[in-house]
Amino acid sequence: MTTPPPLGLYLHIPFCRQRCDFCAFYLEIYRESRAEAFLRSLIHEIELSAHQHVSPGRPIQSVYLGGGTPTVLAAGQLIAILFEIRRHLTLASDCEITVEAHPSTISERDLVQLRQAGVTRLSLGAESMEDGDLARIGRPGAVRETVTAVAQARAAGFININLDLMYGLPGQSLDRWQQTLAHCLALQPTHLSCYALTVEQDTKLASNIRRERSPAPDEGLQIEMDEAAQLMLVDAGYERYEVSNYAGQGYACRHNLLYWTNGEYLGFGPSAQSYLDGTRFGNVADLEVYDTSLAASRLPNENHTRLSEQEQLRDAVIFGLRLIQGIPSHNLHQHAANYGHEAVTAQLLTQQLIEEDGERSKLSARGLLQADTIAGQLY
Ligand code: SF4
Repeated sequence: MTTPPPLGLYLHIPFCRQRCDFCAFYLEIYRESRAEAFLRSLIHEIELSAHQHVSPGRPIQSVYLGGGTPTVLAAGQLIAILFEIRRHLTLASDCEITVEAHPSTISERDLVQLRQAGVTRLSLGAESMEDGDLARIGRPGAVRETVTAVAQARAAGFININLDLMYGLPGQSLDRWQQTLAHCLALQPTHLSCYALTVEQDTKLASNIRRERSPAPDEGLQIEMDEAAQLMLVDAGYERYEVSNYAGQGYACRHNLLYWTNGEYLGFGPSAQSYLDGTRFGNVADLEVYDTSLAASRLPNENHTRLSEQEQLRDAVIFGLRLIQGIPSHNLHQHAANYGHEAVTAQLLTQQLIEEDGERSKLSARGLLQADTIAGQLY
């Protein structure tokens, strides 16, 4: 009997206290009564989906509570979700369990409870270590709350702590970005994610830029910031293992690695996406419809797309190239042949945006700076 491949769970908690100016995620503003109704629906979804989609005993290698802001829910509510997962699914003994937290929505008591309930990894949305940056992107909270949250997480027993950062923020200079990185390094997280600010349509940031109330991100400066992050973080002993992610030894995020290695995952909560048995599907991105569907014991799944073998290889190439270790070269060339991308692939190799060592193909240092454009060319 073959062992089933690892499976990860993603749970989308669709609430925030307010919407940050740059954010285009599906979410609702937190209200206690809505959150209670959502929790009932989510618990029902876990039961229905586990029985429909997961064969008994299949080990779950990672659980990721993201959002939104999962920690707008009380620690007891998050623990109830984990309890329900354990009731219907089998967690691997070394299962990675991540909770995303906004630093101003978490207390030491919450952290102790979450750690005791088996949460192994805390991902704090720091974004910047300068209060002015946070204000300019309409992000609630303050730097001192991030510093306190890290200290409290350690005191609660968390070892694996990620800090999420963004660069290229309105008015942010290279020097200030380097100061943010230095401040984060002083906090000694096990993992850092550094994302370039992108302007999503229909966000307050997009409107501010249109009205010239905020400067548009400067692509050249973002490239310099990306290079500065690589220099400082690698020098401090972190490994860059994905375009935007750096980890101390042994602390790469197992859940996110599933996405980049074309692994399988099951999503819960409104707008959550799943990939299972070669089929992609998603949950409806509407909390009311989600609740109504589950009240009738119907899974709120939609948009089922069965991928052909060629499409599965395409996705493995596109996502896999985000990893610093790259992908098997024969996959890149088979994909190029499948989609008629031989010329563009040859050009990327000639321009040394992709490098090959005979067995593996990977983005070069310059290629990493253009990862999204290259992905678009190869799609
Ligand atoms: S806290 Fe995160 S999910 Fe919520 S609005 Fe801000 S960026 Fe979006």
